[in-house]
Amino acid sequence: MLRTRAIPLAKSIARPVQQTQRRGYAAGGAGGASNLPLALGIAGIAGLAGYVYMDRSTRAAASANANEYADRAKDAAGQAKGYVNERASAASANTNEYLGRARDAVEDAAAKAKGYANERTSAASANLNEAIDRDPSASSTGEDLKNKAQAVGAAVSANANEAVGEAKNAVTDAKNAVTGPFDQERKAAGEAGAGIVAALVKNKWADFKLEKVEPYNHNTNIYTFSFPDPNAAAGGVTASALLVKSSDSQACVDDKGKPVIRPYTPISPQDQKGTMQLMVKVYPEGKMSQHIAHLKPGETLSFKGPIAKYPYKPNEFPHGVAIGGGSGITPMYQMITHSLNLPEDKTKWTLMFANVTEKDILLRERWDKLAKEHPDRLQVVYSLDKPGYFWKGEKGYITKDMIQKYLPKDNAKDVKFFVCGPPGQYAAVCGPKDGMKQGEIKGALGELQYDNDHVFKF
Ligand SMILES: Cc1cc2nc3c(=O)[nH]c(=O)nc-3n(C[C@H](O)[C@H](O)[C@H](O)COP(=O)(O)OP(=O)(O)OC[C@H]3O[C@@H](n4cnc5c(N)ncnc54)[C@H](O)[C@@H]3O)c2cc1C
Repeated sequence: MLRTRAIPLAKSIARPVQQTQRRGYAAGGAGGASNLPLALGIAGIAGLAGYVYMDRSTRAAASANANEYADRAKDAAGQAKGYVNERASAASANTNEYLGRARDAVEDAAAKAKGYANERTSAASANLNEAIDRDPSASSTGEDLKNKAQAVGAAVSANANEAVGEAKNAVTDAKNAVTGPFDQERKAAGEAGAGIVAALVKNKWADFKLEKVEPYNHNTNIYTFSFPDPNAAAGGVTASALLVKSSDSQACVDDKGKPVIRPYTPISPQDQKGTMQLMVKVYPEGKMSQHIAHLKPGETLSFKGPIAKYPYKPNEFPHGVAIGGGSGITPMYQMITHSLNLPEDKTKWTLMFANVTEKDILLRERWDKLAKEHPDRLQVVYSLDKPGYFWKGEKGYITKDMIQKYLPKDNAKDVKFFVCGPPGQYAAVCGPKDGMKQGEIKGALGELQYDNDHVFKF
């Protein structure tokens, strides 16, 4: 794809230069020498001289043309890359759908063949039993026939299994034949996995442009950053965080003059193309949150990652309970919205979200909308330290009793808890993390006998 588009462009870049060269050679050949090699030699030298003495404006024009064509070639390459990725994702999706259908059809046919063989074998057996009952003298012939019928049934079954195996291999080969070339092109275009061009590179800082700032409440904003490649997405598993530092290494430094680096969790889906959203709470003395708050649209921030936090799998547990506090809600939002959007996922969720006052509840309108849209999968519980007079939700910190009150009645022991909040909340709910390790489960969840298999601390 890239190559076929690049060739005409390369030719058109070369054309002005060739034309100039041709004019120069023609002038040199006008000498009319009778000895052909000598004439060609003279013509060549004169042509070269013509090219060398080509006037400046012609050269400048050629150079401008070359630059323009180079820019166009670059644009075309960018478009080609986007096109490759788009086509690859579409081909992959189509292929998967057709392969799924082919596999279902083959398995269906095999099951029918086996069922039929079994039915026929049982019928033959029954008939023979009846015949033997009626005429015991036919017993040995009958047994013999019965065995043969069973052997035929077994052979039919084995053949059906073999046919299914071969059909499955053929399906896999077909998939590779369809998607293989795209995969190669995708690799060549610098793409990373599952139909996504990764805007984030694991060990390299990348600058993304701030597109817009949407004030959320008195101390929190939603920031939209754009990727240099509009077809790229943040990528990475759900739930993932990423690291942030200032683009100008001296613009946000700690007391020792070293760049401040902080983790944040995008609230946009990992596969969202072109842009991502961060929700950041701005602390009056906070170094990075203040730096971000002072960025103007058009300026950039440096990102690295993603850092996988919890590789969420649909239906891994029947019921998830997310316990969050303040801006610790962002990983919960990423994970729960991802889960609710997966058509095959049946996991149910309870969100227990603690805040100081009602206006501190981040993404409240989105949570309420999600709970309305998925009444059988999401329940949202808010608790406030300083509730207003008319507050109808829970009050105070999230305690053992409050957790017990909202545990599912049928499968409380299979629940998986996720905790992300300020240090005090970790201590009270599940015990602190042990550096990068999860640490022992203490606090309310420890008292309720939940262990590390049932609790994840973000
Ligand atoms: C995995 C992970 C993901 C995160 N995702 C997000 C996110 O999506 N959005 C977001 O806003 N934050 C998020 N955070 C927190 C974020 O990384 C920073 O810690 C936060 O923005 C404060 O950094 P700062 O440099 O502004 O403040 P700092 O300079 O580190 O702190 C200065 C002062 O600010 C106050 N302060 C800072 N952090 C807190 C706090 N958590 N609670 C109370 N007081 C505090 C304290 O008084 C502190 O002394 C995440 C943290 C982790 C570990």
